[in-house]
Amino acid sequence: MICNKLLLIINIDLLTIGSGERHIVVMARVHPGESPASFIMEGFLDFITSEDVILLKYLRDQVTFKVIPMLNPDGVALGNYRCSLMGFDLNRHWRDTNPWAQPGLHAVKAFLIGLEKEHPVDFCFDIHAHSLATGAFMYGNVVSEDQQSEQQAFPKIFSAFAEDFSLSKTNFNKDAVKSGTARRVLGGLFPKSYTLEVSFYNYQKDLRSVPYTQKAYSDLGENLARAIAEYYRKYPTL
Ligand SMILES: [Zn+2]
Repeated sequence: MICNKLLLIINIDLLTIGSGERHIVVMARVHPGESPASFIMEGFLDFITSEDVILLKYLRDQVTFKVIPMLNPDGVALGNYRCSLMGFDLNRHWRDTNPWAQPGLHAVKAFLIGLEKEHPVDFCFDIHAHSLATGAFMYGNVVSEDQQSEQQAFPKIFSAFAEDFSLSKTNFNKDAVKSGTARRVLGGLFPKSYTLEVSFYNYQKDLRSVPYTQKAYSDLGENLARAIAEYYRKYPTL
């Protein structure tokens, strides 16, 4: 549990998986209406905790996952589409969290700052759903030229594992409107910080439109975990 304070009805859960020195942060549902993010999270967690896959046992020795499945549980419980209990779009307030106005987000940010001081954090993934775009894609940060290829390495691997993930739609930007997002603010702490977006309705395959199902979202979560495992196979840290 990360926070239980005034103006937070439901506690924010934190899951710790693995025992490695290097850490990966995975979060979802800062926007409460984006329920596909929870199906992705379900597929990710089911796979990453599997005892049957040898590769995952190796991965869990290298890496510790810090997972926050629901960043805005009050908003979800209230049936809000985008905001918190207090009416804030929390994914525009990471830069200037206030312990009274955004208590959950404030506590999560303090936790992540503390985590970064104690451990190397290789990745941060913040999972969302998109009401206009098709397929799955990522937003990343604009970084210095020597870090650019490192920043682009993960989306490339992910695209090889998920047929619905589009590398061409993945983009790296620093637009002002996104300056308060997790990806932008936490990018200052964890250089490889991404927003994972998925369509609310479909993806393209062989020029056909394939509607997303609960299973397809869950598969995307599993493929995210497979891509992480492949990343550490390719760039081992032990
Ligand atoms: Zn969102």
